[in-house]
Amino acid sequence: MVEIKYVPSICPYCGTGCGINFVVKDGKIIGVEPYKRHPVNEGKVCPKGNFGYQFINREDRLTTPLIKENGEFREASWDEALDLVANKLKEVSDEDPNKVGFYACARSPNENIYITQK
Ligand code: SF4
Repeated sequence: MVEIKYVPSICPYCGTGCGINFVVKDGKIIGVEPYKRHPVNEGKVCPKGNFGYQFINREDRLTTPLIKENGEFREASWDEALDLVANKLKEVSDEDPNKVGFYACARSPNENIYITQK
């Protein structure tokens, strides 16, 4: 017997926060169905919400950080990658704080933007 589950979630692509139902079969997301009772979008989703799940099961999806050394990428742990980014940011900021800028995407909630600007 094929078991298909509908798992309610929130589309991760922008700050609107549309409700969606992931269609899950054998532990894999195979589609998106409307979440008609969700107060934000009442079942309507844009193409990103409808089809954006497709990257999840791709074989070429990056699942671990990569660090470039001598022109080649090597896999790294999250701790190593985050330490490297933090140290580089501090290095640049110590040299001149005006050299540091941040990009805020449409998915960033107000709280994250507030902290970033501080
Ligand atoms: S479905 Fe479209 S509008 Fe809704 S949260 Fe996703 S990207 Fe934003």
